[in-house]
Amino acid sequence: MPVLFEDIQKINFMMTEVVAAIDLHKIDPVFGQLSFDDHEQIMFCNDKDTGLKAIIGIHNTVLGPALGGTRMWQYKSEWDALNDVLRLSRGMTYKSAITGLNLGGGKAVIIGDAKTQKTPELMLRFGEFVHSLGGKYITAEDVGMETADMDLVRSVTPYVTGISEEIGGAGNPSPITAYGVFMGMKAAAKYKFGTDDLEDKVVYVQGIGNVGEALVEHLSNEGAKVFISDINEERLEQVRDAYHVEIYRGDNIYGEVMDIYAPCALGATVNDATVNQIQAKVIAGAANNQLADEFKHGTLLRERGIVYAPDFLINAGGIINVYAELENYGKQEIIRKTENIYNTTLEILSSAESKGITTHQAAFEIAKAKIDARKSEK
Ligand code: NAD
Repeated sequence: MPVLFEDIQKINFMMTEVVAAIDLHKIDPVFGQLSFDDHEQIMFCNDKDTGLKAIIGIHNTVLGPALGGTRMWQYKSEWDALNDVLRLSRGMTYKSAITGLNLGGGKAVIIGDAKTQKTPELMLRFGEFVHSLGGKYITAEDVGMETADMDLVRSVTPYVTGISEEIGGAGNPSPITAYGVFMGMKAAAKYKFGTDDLEDKVVYVQGIGNVGEALVEHLSNEGAKVFISDINEERLEQVRDAYHVEIYRGDNIYGEVMDIYAPCALGATVNDATVNQIQAKVIAGAANNQLADEFKHGTLLRERGIVYAPDFLINAGGIINVYAELENYGKQEIIRKTENIYNTTLEILSSAESKGITTHQAAFEIAKAKIDARKSEK
């Protein structure tokens, strides 16, 4: 009996070792995450009383404090939330760098349904967590957040932007984001079609929230043939009636014949399942991280002759708008910087072609060079 007991103990011990080895090797929860890319800091925020579960991701602060919005979303799992904050915060680093702003990249996600679970108490508690980082991370709005939420956060921390004009902020960044996307889209059209006039161009806008709706307004003013899609039926009808555009209710937007596809909902819509179905000649939209795999899907688009205007380049209007709150520049300068997205997009598209690389890569290389140069100065 004692022998058996000893053997069982030995087996138990060996099993523990094996499990530990597998865990360490295979799971490696944060540093081993697919989307982990030398992020500087990840903060998990938990508050039982308010039900807050949030993750703040600080990707890189070489160029300045990490600025990026807070997204509130009903993620399928906490892993999905972590993955999202890792990808989004990384995107912010390169967005600010390519736009020439002295900001690093960060982002926050709050797990939950913004319609039913966002309470003032939860937002205030979240603000306290942001404050505890001492300005290393500065927040703003993203999906599921409104200017009023940022005003609330402002009552517990100065490390927030995107606050309303009445209390000294630059207001809702979404209309400026939409204007920048419109500029980037026009530049991509010029590159692909030889003209930036969007009259009669068939444009599908997927997601008509804060940014999507403002983009629809620009497009319909220019005479484009606009189709809209959204999961929110009420919004679809409101936007259709306001701008006289058509609702798309089909189940495969990617396979529709169109000139321009404008993803303005969530990211990763260009993925293994969709990339070969896409009929658009140009992709230009507001959503962050549109390519599920930047290299693979960027290359496939390039091979198919589809011009992709890099998301982090053309959706920078919002960050330009909130940066004004930190640098004290006014509306005119915001517009000037946002209009410059047109020139930068044209430069990037040409540079990608001459180097034989994807447009995402071309934009990324420029942004990374700026960060590396600043790092070597330090
Ligand atoms: P929003 O929450 O106001 O709008 C998102 C819209 O997408 C909603 O109407 C939602 O119903 C819809 N949607 C969600 N899933 C969908 C699906 N599967 N198909 C169709 N529609 C769907 O968000 P927003 O502020 O307009 O931002 C839109 C995108 O642009 C996000 O990816 C965001 O990260 C990005 N972005 C926003 C800003 C900004 O200034 N708000 C700046 C840069 C990037």
